Amino acid sequence: MNPARLLLVIPCYNEEAILNLTYSKLSMYYNGIKQQGLIAENSRICFVNDGSRDRTWNIIEELCRTDSNIIGVGLSRNFGHQSAIMAGLEKHVDDFDCFITIDADLQDDINAITGMIEKHREGAMVVYGVRSDRSSDSWFKRVTAEQFYVLMQKMGVPVVFNHADFRLMDRRVLQELGNFKEINLFLRGIVPLVGFRNEKVFYSRLERQAGETKYPLNKMLLFAWNGITSFSTFPMRLVLYFGLFNFIVAMLIVVYILFSFLIGHTVPGWTSTMLPLTFFSGFNMMALGLIGEYIGKIYEEVKGRPRYIIEKIVNE
Ligand code: UDP
Ligand code: MG
Repeated sequence: MNPARLLLVIPCYNEEAILNLTYSKLSMYYNGIKQQGLIAENSRICFVNDGSRDRTWNIIEELCRTDSNIIGVGLSRNFGHQSAIMAGLEKHVDDFDCFITIDADLQDDINAITGMIEKHREGAMVVYGVRSDRSSDSWFKRVTAEQFYVLMQKMGVPVVFNHADFRLMDRRVLQELGNFKEINLFLRGIVPLVGFRNEKVFYSRLERQAGETKYPLNKMLLFAWNGITSFSTFPMRLVLYFGLFNFIVAMLIVVYILFSFLIGHTVPGWTSTMLPLTFFSGFNMMALGLIGEYIGKIYEEVKGRPRYIIEKIVNE
């Protein structure tokens, strides 16, 4: 069996602090597995610059100049992690047999790549990298992440526990993935929906080797505030937040009303009027906000804007 042509896709957003290290570690590893005959000679590495504001693109261009195995894809602005991954993948869907996506910060153990390729050779179409040890993450990140996976699964999204975006996909899977047109791309939820035979490879998650996380806690909130000026789904979310708050307050008032009733501090009819009034107004407000959320999503999708725009490619 011929070794597969592999493309490694790495989304990069403001990663100047680590890119050279990432490159040297990856290319060394790559050459190793090429020599072992695990992957084809013409396997390559693709760095996608997701509209970085630092020297990330300069570094990528430099790497492309010195190493013809490197492909540089530059997006026209910041489109977000998931879109950057898709840009690198879709651009090369016809040129390679399988694809591995990995973060630029070396938090995912690159040594797991060998295991992924072996599983692919044995016939797996998707191989998920799963973190078996998250001790390098903070307590807060671990707990919130855990709850996130539990919640997703409860809501019927078939996510793989403790799997982020470190995965191998066969070309066939990627071709099918191209038919999922949504703008709000959540690969962790969509890839399992594509189906095909899948396997897992376990590794322990490492510390970020340099630079800072591009996902600080406030990023989501800040992003929402920026959205207010240019896009208008945010007010709906505001209603949802307000409704949630309203609902919580309403529940407290409900407790107060019941308490007043029990100790007899009420005029006749007060409890039966106030109770449904408070409960349902709180509930309505929240439900309205929730509906707004979904309408907002429909609004986003119905516009059918491109997920990403590729501005330039080096070493294609
Ligand atoms: N990233 C990106 N676009 C963004 C944000 C992040 O391409 O808008 C990349 C980033 O460069 C990294 C990966 O996505 O390669 C994951 O980001 P990060 O490591 O900061 O997230 P964390 O591991 O802290 O969740
Ligand atoms: Mg990271």
